[in-house]
Amino acid sequence: MAGRYRTVLLFGAPGVGKGTQGKLLGAIPGFVHMASGDIFRSLDPRSELGRKCHQYSSQGLLVPDEVTIAVWQAHVKSRIEKETYRPEVDLLILDGIPRNVAQAEALEQHLTVLAIVHLKAPDVDGMVARLKSRAAKEGRQDDTDETVIRRRFKVYQDETSPVLGHYDAALISEIDAIGPPAAVLLRILETVAGIYTEHFHNPLG
Ligand code: ADP
Repeated sequence: MAGRYRTVLLFGAPGVGKGTQGKLLGAIPGFVHMASGDIFRSLDPRSELGRKCHQYSSQGLLVPDEVTIAVWQAHVKSRIEKETYRPEVDLLILDGIPRNVAQAEALEQHLTVLAIVHLKAPDVDGMVARLKSRAAKEGRQDDTDETVIRRRFKVYQDETSPVLGHYDAALISEIDAIGPPAAVLLRILETVAGIYTEHFHNPLG
C-alpha cells in the first residue's frame, strides 16, 4: 500500500449514529465512506475468513487486530483498483477503525488523520434501544441479544475510547450526536467542510 490516505475518523459508541452520518458524508462528491463493520459483513460467511470474523462479531467482541488490518488493507486495495476510492482526490471517512490503540499504531503508516469527529450521546439505554430496533430492521444478528449489545459497549469503553488519547487533542471535534440526522450532519460539516477545502481541490471544478 503506497502512500498515506488523508482521513477523517468517525468515532463514537455503538448506536451513536456513525453509520448514518458516514453514509450521508459519503454521498458528498470527494468524500468516501468506509465502515469496517460493513467490510466484515460483506465477507462470504462460508469462507474461512468470513466464518472466523463472524465468530467474534456475533459475540460482540473485536476481530483480532492482525485479521482486521489485513482485511481492511485488502478492501482499500480493491477499492483503489476499482477506482471507487482515489486517494489523490478523495477524503476518506473511516468508521469503526481503528478500534483500539494497537490498530491506531498499525494504521499510522497508512493514514494522515486530518480530524477526528467524536459523536457523543449521554444516554446508553437509548442507544441500546436504538441498536435493538436497528437489528430487527437490518437483520443485524449481533444486536438482537441485549447481553451482546452491553458487551459491545464495554469493549468500546475499555478498548476503543483510549484510541482518542492516541491522537493530538487538537484534531478532535466533540459533536453532539442527539437530534435529526440533518442537524448532526450540519455540526459535523462545520469541521469537515473546512478541512476538505484546505486539503483538496473542488471535485466539481
Ligand atoms: P457498531 O454497531 O458497534 O458500530 P460495526 O458495524 O462497526 O459495529 O462492527 C460490527 C462488528 O464487526 C464489531 O462488533 C466487531 O466484531 C467487528 N469489527 C468492526 N470493526 C472492527 C475493528 N476495527 N476491529 C475489530 N473488530 C471490528
